[in-house]
Amino acid sequence: MFLDVDGTLLDFREHPGDVIADHSLIDMLGHSSKAMSGALCLISGRSLEDVDRVFTPAIFPTAGAHGAEIRLPDGRRADPPEVPFPESAFEKLVAFVDAHPGLVLEKKHGGASLHYRRAPQLADACRQRMHEMLSEVGDRFRLIAGKLVFEITPNTHDKGKAIATFMTYEPFEGRRPVFIGDDITDEDGFRIVNEHGGVSVLVGERRETEARFYLPNVAAVRTWLRSSFIAQV
Ligand SMILES: [Mg+2]
Repeated sequence: MFLDVDGTLLDFREHPGDVIADHSLIDMLGHSSKAMSGALCLISGRSLEDVDRVFTPAIFPTAGAHGAEIRLPDGRRADPPEVPFPESAFEKLVAFVDAHPGLVLEKKHGGASLHYRRAPQLADACRQRMHEMLSEVGDRFRLIAGKLVFEITPNTHDKGKAIATFMTYEPFEGRRPVFIGDDITDEDGFRIVNEHGGVSVLVGERRETEARFYLPNVAAVRTWLRSSFIAQV
């Protein structure tokens, strides 16, 4: 069971740092994991450290920063090779954010996210600035347009590659994967899960997608997980 976090298990907040998992969600994930012999994994755009903060005190196998950081069930790391985001580029983004109130900049493992959730009128300005940054940092990076966020991230990893990595380790190996996610960056995950004969589930508004199943919102995901796994414990 591979689960995206924001927009899948938890609703968005204005500031990503305000998101925190409630006890009922943490308990439910713990029970679900137990029912699947530990084969439950979080696949997030957040850094590993930030995922752990959201789910404190629980620690799950996790792919952070879209798969730049991979923590296996036994705590070992299986990160892909690192591509550092140039410090000079990050400083330019800091200056841009300082000049535009409402924007939030997040430093990621090998990249940077520019959130405009509190300043949606700045979408075009943010897009343009991030395109400029992308051409500066070169072709080892790509630009992802998420929900009210633009993110520059290395080409060496994505959520699909992260799922494929987990599928080579116990207790995931040889099992049928399920991946639930809501965002454009989750499409890589849907593709990999489909290739493994698994179950791909899109959350939220219907759109063109690789996912083969659909749940309307976070509440529906949680109800589905609860009804699927809690009864088995
Ligand atoms: Mg999401």
